[in-house]
Amino acid sequence: MEVNKAKSEDKALEALVEKNIILAKLDQLLDYCRAHSFWPVTFGLACCAIEMMAAGGARYDISRFGYEVFRPSPRQADLMIVAGTITDKMAPLVKRIYDQMAEPKWVIAMGSCAISGGPFVDSYNVVPGADAFLPVDVYVPGCPPRPEALLHGLLTLKKKVINPKVVKIHG
Ligand code: SF4
Repeated sequence: MEVNKAKSEDKALEALVEKNIILAKLDQLLDYCRAHSFWPVTFGLACCAIEMMAAGGARYDISRFGYEVFRPSPRQADLMIVAGTITDKMAPLVKRIYDQMAEPKWVIAMGSCAISGGPFVDSYNVVPGADAFLPVDVYVPGCPPRPEALLHGLLTLKKKVINPKVVKIHG
């Protein structure tokens, strides 16, 4: 009788543990937290930056995802949204800001210019995309991409940070 009672208590305890305790590696937990609170560096290069700013406004409400804390200092930021045309003159400064950001850090290339040079790709002074000198994680196409597209890019980055094995996401 006592044995049966102990067994049923054990089972009840196991069920309680399964229901209430999640086991994960600390890295996974940290990545989960980071993915829900990117801190983008305040930074814009050209017209795409206007759409990035719109994403922060009340209409698109980037804060519902936890990404609204744009930081004026790269040392407090973990995400660079490259929004606009990168000229040869600006590229070293963009790189310097990126280098000043703390690890771990991520890069979104927003718009045709940041992805490939866009309509100015043949210009003598335009870099053909941010990935010429930065490790870009997510590309958001468009000229310019709408704020919804940037939000989609941010959510794609979120999936990538939670599961680094994800290299391509559809939909
Ligand atoms: S992609 Fe289009 S909108 Fe964006 S910076 Fe280039 S020209 Fe401007």
